Amino acid sequence: MPSQILTDLNLKRAQVGEVAPVEADNLRIAMLSIHSSPIGELGTKDTGGMSVYVREIARELGNRGHLVDIYTRLNDARQNQMAELYENVRLIHLRSGNNGHMNKLALYAHLDDFLKELEGFRTRESIDYDLIHSHYWLSGRVGNWAQERWEVPHVFMFHTVGAVKNNTVGSEREPELRTAIENHLARNCDRILVATDKERVHLMQHYGAAAETIGVVPCGVNLDLFRPLDKKKARQQLGFGQDESIVLFVGRFAPLKGIDRLLEAVAHLQHYRRFRLVIVGGDGDHTPESKSLRSLSRELGIQDFVTFVGRIEQEKLPPYYSAADVSVVPSHYESFGLVALESLASGTPVVATKVGAMESILREGETGLVVENCSPRLLANGIETFISRSHFPSADAIRATVLEFSWASVASAMMNEYAAVLRQYNFETCCCGKVSMI
Ligand code: UDP
Repeated sequence: MPSQILTDLNLKRAQVGEVAPVEADNLRIAMLSIHSSPIGELGTKDTGGMSVYVREIARELGNRGHLVDIYTRLNDARQNQMAELYENVRLIHLRSGNNGHMNKLALYAHLDDFLKELEGFRTRESIDYDLIHSHYWLSGRVGNWAQERWEVPHVFMFHTVGAVKNNTVGSEREPELRTAIENHLARNCDRILVATDKERVHLMQHYGAAAETIGVVPCGVNLDLFRPLDKKKARQQLGFGQDESIVLFVGRFAPLKGIDRLLEAVAHLQHYRRFRLVIVGGDGDHTPESKSLRSLSRELGIQDFVTFVGRIEQEKLPPYYSAADVSVVPSHYESFGLVALESLASGTPVVATKVGAMESILREGETGLVVENCSPRLLANGIETFISRSHFPSADAIRATVLEFSWASVASAMMNEYAAVLRQYNFETCCCGKVSMI
């Protein structure tokens, strides 16, 4: 049941026929991020932007006095069941299937274990949440089940949309189970949050989601961590040459990221004698993805231009962005694309395909370029614009274009969404006798 304060407040107001402005103070939020931990290793197969999102948003909400419990799957027996992550934010590991890595489809079969553990933990701790906020379809499924029991609103974020992935070149086929569940979630959550208008349209087109149930809240960037550093010092620190043209890729080694197309683009740039493509991310040198990218760079004859540096802890990424002349997001699909924001906040322009938020965050020809598709030739032309130009906006001017994307602003927008959904939910529960949204 929702916290007594909220229920009483809304009951009183609903009784006098008013749709209550909810006092969304000190909410208790159950955040579900089952397959991907907010403290997981960024840049590996299943851990990227969503983990950053959950971590940063929880930290901001905690700073504002809300209590956030993030529930994720125990995937290493050495993990403590519960840890204080930030002020007012706890990370809770729950058992679901075995303790090791499990692919998403296999994990689906164990979601009922997760729900039982969740319910057990909540009961032992006597917590009544005001709201469930779930991330990705697996957590959305559990969010719906929990909502039936707890009778609180359920806010859901897709992060990526299975049906869109299935229409995207280079994507692995998503299982029907995923698209069926996403279809259900699109129609049965109290609020869906997406990071771009484009994703909102996708949900309406592919899953028939109602426009009024979808809120758009862009992603953010840690402006304290990502800021312009001295380029010379950054290159020195990383062992890169001062006279090299440096192009940077940061991200997971997934087919959707289009790293192969970036390598092909670099093959068009071999006339630049002092040129280096720096690739950050991946699960180590011995994975099939890494081996195939290395072998492609050999086939293209560009192995001497490409440096695979492996996965880098996020706190250590700033010198990479500052050392680069340009970052590239060559993806076939992105839900938003945090890496582009991080690069801009660090003062480095971005060449990107037309994915995620790129068209809205890049200023064409100034802070970046959006190329029509993943064609290596187009990517190469875009990259060339930024490595051959002598006059750029300064790093500070590039950074200034993304100052509005702090995680604090994202959290404010999120709070507005929470307040609206609580108001609506409590009104419907009190006045229309609704018990569950499903
Ligand atoms: N990242 C990192 N170290 C790496 C590779 C990636 O910290 O070696 C982080 C990067 O800083 C960004 C996130 O992983 O915050 C990737 O998010 P993005 O939205 O670009 O891609 P996603 O993983 O969601 O597809």
